[in-house]
Amino acid sequence: MVHVGIGYDVHALVAGRKLILGGVEIPHPKGLEGHSDADALMHAICDAILGALGEPDIGHFFPNSDLRWKNAPSRIFLEEAARLIALRQGKIVNVDATLIAEQPKLYPHVAEMKRRIATALRVPEKNIGIKATTNEHLGFIGREEGIAALAVAGVDL
Ligand code: MG
Repeated sequence: MVHVGIGYDVHALVAGRKLILGGVEIPHPKGLEGHSDADALMHAICDAILGALGEPDIGHFFPNSDLRWKNAPSRIFLEEAARLIALRQGKIVNVDATLIAEQPKLYPHVAEMKRRIATALRVPEKNIGIKATTNEHLGFIGREEGIAALAVAGVDL
């Protein structure tokens, strides 16, 4: 039976940090603040998968009080989510995600994000959807104070 999960994440944009989304380092004057590499896209996808499994959120598995995850690549969180699915003999049906950012333009990086997410989850790229949109200059995203990501995942269990 296919179980679906939903994920949401947001991180603040600050000077002096790399901007990493979907495992891709994107040239930009600001990056996302966080304990790990602050990859909001991978975090949202991880939460979507955990939700489909009926598990608690990513912070439960990888607390930001744990120095092991300081500046850690978020790929390891997705690898752990994939491991939890495999433990239950489950299979990811698909993942779909939307990035919401005013700047920079993310579309040129989407293909590489898909490759990296598919590799971490060990699924074909065709099962990963990633879109990017702006917030039409509204709110904190519109003021370029942060970037958000939404994701859903279908897992056959
Ligand atoms: Mg996060």
